[in-house]
Amino acid sequence: MNEPIQMYIITAPCWKCSKDMNIAVIKGDKERNGCCGPEAFSEEEKKTAKKHNVIIKKRHSYTREDAYNANICPHCNTFLGQHYLFANYFCEAVYGRYVYQIIDLI
Ligand SMILES: [Zn+2]
Repeated sequence: MNEPIQMYIITAPCWKCSKDMNIAVIKGDKERNGCCGPEAFSEEEKKTAKKHNVIIKKRHSYTREDAYNANICPHCNTFLGQHYLFANYFCEAVYGRYVYQIIDLI
């Protein structure tokens, strides 16, 4: 049986301005390496994230030399890079440091 595909909506302080922001991550999709951020969300998934007050916008990455979708802070407009997203938010949330809700996508 396949692992369910779920969206995690994490509420955590922005790394820059320290105000709470909502962050979306998808877990369980093997085609997307088990875990992914908004850079790999479908249109439908972006809508689901938006419904939960997550702001997703395209941002230019200088390390990747490419534009990709990222979680945006509503207060200071900064974005979460992929490294921050997993190491500093997703893992911390799963370990119980941040509040999160899980939405079943399938
Ligand atoms: Zn911020």
